[in-house]
Amino acid sequence: MEELPGGLRRVTMPLPSRPGHVHCYLLPVDDGFMLVDTGLGLPDAAELWAAELEQLPGPVSTIFITHFHPDHLGATTDVRELTGARVVQGRLDAEQAAITWENSRWSEVLAAWFRGNGVPPEVIAELIGQGELYRPFIRRVLDPELVDDGDHLHGWEIVAAPGHADGQLTLLKDGVLIAADHLLLRITPTVGLWPASRPDPLGDYLGSLQRTIDLAPDIAYSGHGDTVTDPVGRANELIAHHAERLLVTAGAIGTEPRTAYEVSFPLFGDDLRPAARRFAVAETLSHLERLVRDGEAERHELQPNGDVTNVSYTAAQ
Ligand SMILES: [Zn+2]
Repeated sequence: MEELPGGLRRVTMPLPSRPGHVHCYLLPVDDGFMLVDTGLGLPDAAELWAAELEQLPGPVSTIFITHFHPDHLGATTDVRELTGARVVQGRLDAEQAAITWENSRWSEVLAAWFRGNGVPPEVIAELIGQGELYRPFIRRVLDPELVDDGDHLHGWEIVAAPGHADGQLTLLKDGVLIAADHLLLRITPTVGLWPASRPDPLGDYLGSLQRTIDLAPDIAYSGHGDTVTDPVGRANELIAHHAERLLVTAGAIGTEPRTAYEVSFPLFGDDLRPAARRFAVAETLSHLERLVRDGEAERHELQPNGDVTNVSYTAAQ
C-alpha cells in the first residue's frame, strides 16, 4: 500500500496479462475509506485484500466501481465480504455489466458480431476464447447503489468519462481526479465499439477529453501506470493521437467496401496475437464510425441470412 498526498492510498493488484497490474485507490471519507475499484477476482484476491486492509487505519465503508471491465470490478464481491461495505456503481455501467457478464450466450452474440465485421471463422474462435479467459474471475455484483454523472459521493463529484467504457465514471475533488482508464500516462486507453456499446464511443471519448480540459484537474490517478501530473496536457495529447489515427483510418478505406477486420491490418499491423486483434477490430470500428459521423466514410449493411449483418465501409463519395 502506497501513501499519496491528501491521505489517499494506492493498492496495486496483479493482472496475469498486460499491463500486468491495476491500481485501486482508497480515499479518506467521513466514516472510513472509499475504495475505488477492486482488481481482478483471482483465486487469491480475498487473501491479498485482507492483508492490505489490515494496514488501513479505518474501515472501508464504500466500494466505488469505475467501470465493469474485469480488472476493475472482478474482486468486488470478495472485498464486500471482507468489509461489509456498500457498493456503488454507475447506472449505465451496471446495465452493461449485466449484459456482458450475466449473459451465458454473450460469446455467441460476440461471435456473430465479429462475423458480421469480416472476421474469418477460424479467427473468431481464437478471439472468443481470449475474451472468455477472464470470465471465471468475475463474480456478479449484487444490487449496487446506482449513481449518475453530477452526483456526489462523500464530497467527491462523479464525472462521467465515456469512451474506454460507455458508463465509466471518474471522481473529482479539489483538483484531484481519480481517472480510472480515462487518462493513462504512457498507454492510450482502448476505445472500441462492441455489440452492446453506444454507437460512437470515439466521439464520446473525444468529448470526455474535452471535458477534462475544461475541468482542468491538477493531477490524475489512473487505473494503470504512473500518475498523470498534467491531465490537461495528456488529454490534449490523446485528442491529437486520435486525430492522427482517424487520418490513417480514412486512408485505409476507398471505393471498394472493406470490413473493420480488413482495415485493422493497415492500422494495427499483420502480426497480432488474438487478444490484440480482438481489440484492434473493436478500435478500428470506433474510428470508422467516427468517420461516418464526420461525413468522411459510409457504412454499408447487408443481411444475407437475416441473422448476421455484414458491415463494410467505403470512403464517402
Ligand atoms: Zn483497466
